[in-house]
Amino acid sequence: MSWRATVLTLFPEMFPGPLGQSLAGRALERGIWSLAARDIRAQAADRHRTVDDTPFGGGAGMVMRPDIVDAALAECADDRPAVFLTPRGRKLTQATVRRLAEGPGVVLLCGRYEGVDQRVIEARGLEEISIGDYVLSGGEPAAMVLLDACVRLLPGVMGAAESADEESFSAGLLEYPHYTRPAEWQGRRVPDVLLSGNHAAIAAWRRAEAERITRERRPDLWAGHGPELRQSDVRGG
Ligand code: SAM
Repeated sequence: MSWRATVLTLFPEMFPGPLGQSLAGRALERGIWSLAARDIRAQAADRHRTVDDTPFGGGAGMVMRPDIVDAALAECADDRPAVFLTPRGRKLTQATVRRLAEGPGVVLLCGRYEGVDQRVIEARGLEEISIGDYVLSGGEPAAMVLLDACVRLLPGVMGAAESADEESFSAGLLEYPHYTRPAEWQGRRVPDVLLSGNHAAIAAWRRAEAERITRERRPDLWAGHGPELRQSDVRGG
């Protein structure tokens, strides 16, 4: 049974978009996952197919109506978690991606305008997820980010050559730097250890680089990385 993604959106024609290409696109063709983009506007009953209204309490912009969004969610409600993409949500992490990828799939609600009436978020128990501390004009690019991150973890999507075991966040660290041929380029040499053929030394160098980069760039990640795991502490670095 494939991993199922349903996206509720006012712009279904945006999908599959980039998800129809490369790794995710090939997995879609092979049936490892399925994607349905449903038009929220199909739930609107009036002549103008209205899905939004002005906010109670005043203020700029429009709000997506709870009855319309609820009807869209009801049509695809099953055992999958339902997620509302919003800058107010918990920030998407690799741990969340892993959890979602291990489940049966996901239903993603994409907001537009000022967002969605709070009551339907609560009534449906939607999990609120943000892809970062910035504001997009709609939830669709956020849905694509979340789906891309999940799909690449599904069994059979990545070959051995693209293993997720050593990449950023897999051990709570950012990844070490990569190098390929030529061994010297514009006067810059590949670190000698990578040419040494000494696998233990290479592993130690990569680990130390991952720790250095995480410490320098992401003190938040580094702080959550137990001292017992740190090679640099063991070496007194
Ligand atoms: N008024 C909202 C606020 O200040 O939090 C922003 C609304 S935004 C213009 C419209 C929609 O884009 C949101 O309802 C949400 O679905 C989506 N969106 C915007 N930024 C996002 C982010 N960082 N992560 C996930 N979804 C986002």
